[in-house]
Amino acid sequence: MTLKEYEEDLASVQNEITGEKMLTEIICIDLHCWRYIIKDLDGFDGICISDEKLIEMDTKKKDDDITLLHEMTHAYEGMMPETYRQYVAVRLFQKLQHKIPNLISLISADLHTVSHVAFHSPLFTLKALDLDIGLGLPLGTVYSYEKKDFYLNITE
Ligand SMILES: [Zn+2]
Repeated sequence: MTLKEYEEDLASVQNEITGEKMLTEIICIDLHCWRYIIKDLDGFDGICISDEKLIEMDTKKKDDDITLLHEMTHAYEGMMPETYRQYVAVRLFQKLQHKIPNLISLISADLHTVSHVAFHSPLFTLKALDLDIGLGLPLGTVYSYEKKDFYLNITE
């Protein structure tokens, strides 16, 4: 779900409830006001600092589209208020549950993994899986952190 689709989806639901045409405008969700910095990150491929609207990429990963997409997914999540995050997570789950039979197992296993290098929410996981499918990549590619191999061992 793109942010534009999300806005249209939310507006259509509100229109059904109120019977009035409403335009839903979320805060400034725009990656143009973000800064991208390439530098040596000492063990990290990329870092997203949402509060500062900053994405840092390691020098060795500066041309790695997957690392950038991973950090942009954090940015996407970081720009939305909490209520919207939960709504988008539910909608993404609805969209993906028919495409990924063991979806709830992937999310559940991910939440219980103690080997997390960094925190990734269920929304992040869902959006990363959505991007994998949309781009024709193996599940776990955008998530990174060896999730491709991890997901292969998770069944329903
Ligand atoms: Zn991450």
